[in-house]
Amino acid sequence: MNSKEQFLYKRKQDKNSDFVMWMAFPGIYSFSMSSLGYLWMFKTIDELEGVNIERICSDTEKTQFNIKDVKLFGFSFSFDLDFLTIFSMLEKYNIPLKSKDRSSQPLIFAGGPVVSANPEPYKEFFDFFIIGDGEEVNLTAVEICRQNSDRETALKLLSEVEGIYVPVYHQKRVKKLTKRLTECIYTPIISEDAFFKNTFILEMSRGCANRCGFCLASYLNLPLRCIPYDELLKTIDLGLAYTDKIALLGAQISAHPHFHDVCKYIYDKIKSGQNIEMSVSSLRVDAITSDVVKTLAAAGQKNSTLAIEAGSERLRKVINKNLTEEQIFNAVKIARDNGLKGLKFYGMIGLPTETEEDLQSIIELGKKVKKENKGFDISFGFSSFVPKANTPFQWCGRENTKSLEEKANYLKKELHKIGISSNVSSIKWDYWQAVLSRGDESLNDFVLEAYRQGGKLGAFKSAAKKLNINTDYFALKNYPFEKSLPWDFIEIKPGKECLIKENKRLVTNNYS
Ligand code: SF4
Repeated sequence: MNSKEQFLYKRKQDKNSDFVMWMAFPGIYSFSMSSLGYLWMFKTIDELEGVNIERICSDTEKTQFNIKDVKLFGFSFSFDLDFLTIFSMLEKYNIPLKSKDRSSQPLIFAGGPVVSANPEPYKEFFDFFIIGDGEEVNLTAVEICRQNSDRETALKLLSEVEGIYVPVYHQKRVKKLTKRLTECIYTPIISEDAFFKNTFILEMSRGCANRCGFCLASYLNLPLRCIPYDELLKTIDLGLAYTDKIALLGAQISAHPHFHDVCKYIYDKIKSGQNIEMSVSSLRVDAITSDVVKTLAAAGQKNSTLAIEAGSERLRKVINKNLTEEQIFNAVKIARDNGLKGLKFYGMIGLPTETEEDLQSIIELGKKVKKENKGFDISFGFSSFVPKANTPFQWCGRENTKSLEEKANYLKKELHKIGISSNVSSIKWDYWQAVLSRGDESLNDFVLEAYRQGGKLGAFKSAAKKLNINTDYFALKNYPFEKSLPWDFIEIKPGKECLIKENKRLVTNNYS
């Protein structure tokens, strides 16, 4: 335990139990301490009387418990490439990577958005997966493992629990869990060494009702659920008793019916002399109001991010982000007039049906915004479209790397000419993300080989060549609707038929 940590709940450390569990974060300590889901899961298990739980990160040097005493080892798996760190952490403790090569404990499991959407490329490495919201089923899984020291018995029982996928049992359907949000989830430990130093992070809402066609955060978390207002205020007060830094989290927090009230609650505290720094995750353009911006500015936030995704109204319609240009200009004006110093527009290139005119529209938009808002700092960030399993765009192949890199260079050059800085995510890494995102079980040996060869870009290419895997098939190809998909067995509402309908409505109709 780190001495710079403050626990917001009462820990019981002298438990009379020999059941030991490690909860791992595939990254360094400072990042783990800003990971809400990971820390919350740790807290809920830590509160169980019969379980000793320890947090493990990629830079953990000394552990409280010895690996030979660990019965259960869980990983938070949030990004496609997390498997690289997970493998190196398993090897650090001499645990065979493939499940079939492990005959004793600990049982290894993973949960998080990547494996909830499509666990197939990683199924040979984990004994079980938690599919969907894990807050409650995690506790059930821990209890089963605690009461059943025999590996086979525990796995059999786990395979009978809704929301748990045990690959050796070849379940025909696995239902994704969706939790009713009645209590507010927050960072139960605050640390000076966290990436967001001493920051209390709380979840205001889960999911997003906007349903952009590419967005896994939305489709994996439907319906949008909002924390009750009184619960929010209670949690904010709890956090402010420990720190003056607070961050509100949620894919679409501005859709919370009490978002403005929460901002006002914090604004009033600041005006009455309380020192509070507040930040929010990216705002939707149509939710920027003077009250919200005034609160952010008074709470020390200088810039914000606006996800517009595409430059033209046509393409924004195709992706279901129905923002008008007028709304964008209005949002910039409100941000500027109420105290922010700048805005970063976030966009995506290579979206289905994108044309040269759509790219040109980004530059035109940049020009106009710049001209109308002299002295206001405008920048752009781009990533490239990655088809994600369990979204309406899961059938859409991605554009090839060369053409996307040309587009990225063109945008950077043209925006630079008009004095706007921009950055673009690595198109090459986005390609490998797409391969993994639509991958099937044949990729298990591929991910292992990519790891063995060092996990850099060249390693992925060389692993595909060595194993003779046509990775373009996973990343670039348009799939027909009739094709059965590797992740079809994961049951996620609204279901495949609805996704097909939505794809046809958005892409096939091709707004003009
Ligand atoms: S508004 Fe943002 S979070 Fe919501 S669906 Fe669109 S991209 Fe996803």
